[in-house]
Amino acid sequence: MQQETFPVSLHSYAFQLRKKLLKRASLQDLLDCHARHQEFLGRVSQLIDFNRLSLADRFAWKLLREINILSLDFSNEGKFPNRNGEKPAKPAQGIYLNLEDVVMNVQKIWFSEMKKLPSIVWLKRFSTRKLAHYSFKADEIAFSLIFDSMDAPAEIVSYLAYHELLHRQMGAKRVNGRQYAHTSEFKAQEHLFPNWRSIDQQINQYILNID
Ligand SMILES: [Zn+2]
Repeated sequence: MQQETFPVSLHSYAFQLRKKLLKRASLQDLLDCHARHQEFLGRVSQLIDFNRLSLADRFAWKLLREINILSLDFSNEGKFPNRNGEKPAKPAQGIYLNLEDVVMNVQKIWFSEMKKLPSIVWLKRFSTRKLAHYSFKADEIAFSLIFDSMDAPAEIVSYLAYHELLHRQMGAKRVNGRQYAHTSEFKAQEHLFPNWRSIDQQINQYILNID
């Protein structure tokens, strides 16, 4: 029998499964992917002490449970908000959240003078440190996969989109060759976002109180 090796980590399995779902893989394809990880999952699921997982792995585990491929009535139908035709999913399309909608709304309200949106993508990991990022070079906003979840508060993602669009608008300040992005001027602008203080707390709660 041919021995296939797959990276065995919660993170990589969750990422692979997610990618397949977004490619609108057939149920058979999903189940095959799952079967290849079965041994791994069978071994780990009994051993997993949720509280001892890294935060990123907790989010990966949460996604695996949310997708719930093991349930008898699993179906990948209806997992997608806009499942029209066979068009491949855009990089901003998640399983639960379309980032483009979020960024576009924020842009309309707060950055109406911005004519064109940057590229918008999901990061390739469930990062709990890098929540979102704007790259000047690529003119691209990226969001951590931890927000592609059923219960990710919409307010958080909007706030992060606001923060990153603000970077895009204000640019980075260079002093002695070093870049400073979070200047006091930046912070003053950032704090114009309604309820930013409570959203800051919400972000910490979302990350630390995952179960
Ligand atoms: Zn920033």
